[in-house]
Amino acid sequence: MSILIVGTVAFDAIETPFGKTDKIVGGAATYISLAASFFSDKLRLVSVVGDDFPQEAITMLEKHNVDTDGLQIKKGEKTFFWSGKYHNDMNSRDTIDTQLNVLETFDPVLPNNFKDSEYLMLGNLVPSVQQKVLDQMSSKPKLIVLDTMNFWMDNCMDDLKEALKNVDVLTINDEEARQLSEVYSLVKAAKIIQKMGPKYLVIKKGEHGALLFGEDKTFFAPALPLENVFDPTGAGDSFAGGFMGHIQKTGDVSFENLKSAVIYGSVMASFCVEKFGTERLTEITQEDVKERVNEFVSLSSFAL
Ligand code: AMP
Repeated sequence: MSILIVGTVAFDAIETPFGKTDKIVGGAATYISLAASFFSDKLRLVSVVGDDFPQEAITMLEKHNVDTDGLQIKKGEKTFFWSGKYHNDMNSRDTIDTQLNVLETFDPVLPNNFKDSEYLMLGNLVPSVQQKVLDQMSSKPKLIVLDTMNFWMDNCMDDLKEALKNVDVLTINDEEARQLSEVYSLVKAAKIIQKMGPKYLVIKKGEHGALLFGEDKTFFAPALPLENVFDPTGAGDSFAGGFMGHIQKTGDVSFENLKSAVIYGSVMASFCVEKFGTERLTEITQEDVKERVNEFVSLSSFAL
């Protein structure tokens, strides 16, 4: 079984209270792929970069079980660039710059052998591109998850609402849930958003954990209190990678298993933030993941 991952592959420049990076490799699909690679050896990537993107980064993805046949490399063009600065609490950030570059004209083409992927992870990207990928699938995936952000709500809300009609799970943060639903209460927001299409909604609340809504039920997973948080960039995408990875590994799309997936997502996000960029996700082992899952279990288990 395989996961088709769509999203940005990018250069990022990040500033947090703990330091600053020049252009480093990032992008939603990069973080999703790395996190999912701890659960799946069949990842298929659809994205676009310019010819300024380093071959070593593509090789690094391939070493993490990613089939890069759907990664377009545009000659003479520049890779998507995003730059952000985190506030002192690290829970909020300002986008300093978004340069769409290759994304401006991106027309996703799914290689034939990608079209029957059982799981589809529509990572953060132009909503009309997410829709174009949906349109090319030859069979309906067992689960379609879509992640997006305020940038696309500000710039193409109509296209986003169109894509939402076709997805099973939407993952967004609390501010984005409020923007999309136009209400403050997250419980009310969840009801409104579910009417837009997704059967399930995951609301990510940074260091305050994540909420899962669906089938008239709610589940809450805390975030692990960490000694070192250097850079929250990619935490949401790592969450999505762990979430989808666990579902693909187990082949179970029940609400009960989505709850476990929220924990695996939180585990991968907790690693991501411990170092700048993708560094931590590229150095951890399966053992580290297992240990941290156990830490999550003991974090909130208690006797009645
Ligand atoms: P996250 O911190 O999980 O929201 O994801 C951060 C990643 O999203 C960075 O690596 C960026 O390259 C990427 N990113 C930033 N803005 C956008 C955007 N408008 N569309 C798609 N990806 C983006």
